[in-house]
Amino acid sequence: MTARRDRSDYVINGTKTWISNGIEGSCFALLVKTNPEASPRYSGMSLFIAPKGPGFKVGRKLEKLGYHSIDSGELIFDDYRISADHLIGEVEGRGFTQVAGGLELGRINVAARGVGIAEGALRLASSYAQTRKTFGKPIAEHQAIALKIGEMATRARAARLLTLDAAGAFDRGERCDMEAGMAKFFSSEAALENSIESMRIHGAYGYSKEYDIERLYRDAPLTCIGEGTNEMQRLIIARQYMRRNAT
Ligand SMILES: Cc1cc2nc3c(=O)[nH]c(=O)nc-3n(C[C@H](O)[C@H](O)[C@H](O)COP(=O)(O)OP(=O)(O)OC[C@H]3O[C@@H](n4cnc5c(N)ncnc54)[C@H](O)[C@@H]3O)c2cc1C
Repeated sequence: MTARRDRSDYVINGTKTWISNGIEGSCFALLVKTNPEASPRYSGMSLFIAPKGPGFKVGRKLEKLGYHSIDSGELIFDDYRISADHLIGEVEGRGFTQVAGGLELGRINVAARGVGIAEGALRLASSYAQTRKTFGKPIAEHQAIALKIGEMATRARAARLLTLDAAGAFDRGERCDMEAGMAKFFSSEAALENSIESMRIHGAYGYSKEYDIERLYRDAPLTCIGEGTNEMQRLIIARQYMRRNAT
């Protein structure tokens, strides 16, 4: 997407996809190129506050596996004109830095959602395993199920502690891209693993819409993708770890 200055306005063209609340939302933070030739490329981006209006159209609503509480959509900008005072900050070219500043917090937020899913899946599994009986005893007393619960409880606890560690560093104003990346990576994988293990513990009812576990199972994968995929998180963690431990 590009924004071209036209006297006291900017004229914006291009499309965005997978925008949360794109269908129902009314106002967006919009990262676009104000200088497509800039090098390095990120220095040519600027951030705008973009209310819906003429030239700002909503495209397709994207249907999803889970996370139905927010809509996701495509946005189309066709000679969308806004006054220059919608630029965030005094000058062009700071957009990437402004957005990157929010990524640490965004990743800690996703990590916290991962913790919620991991702990929720554990609670549901533990409660079901103590209620459902096979071969004359609750399935929680079968060692195969107890081993799963032990692993799930450990994963959920480790995810919570990593997330608190990253949030603490953020609150103290410290650089925490590595800590936020670790928390996001670990907690989202814990959410995914715990939700599928909990589903297995529920047997056929894990596959039923009557029980909550199927929703956690559908919601968990997004935490591995949003705010930067877990592949990218591992690269960020490795790069930052080596920078801090250079030999
Ligand atoms: C429900 C939902 C809501 C979203 N909300 C928003 C929103 O509000 N605003 C917004 O801007 N975006 C939003 N997104 C987009 C989201 O941030 C991206 O989908 C995500 O960052 C991954 O980008 P991508 O889909 O282009 O994947 P791709 O970049 O195409 O990646 C595909 C695969 O290749 C891997 N990969 C790509 N590049 C590399 C590399 N250099 N090294 C190693 N592996 C790599 C990825 O890890 C992934 O496994 C949303 C997405 C979803 C699903």
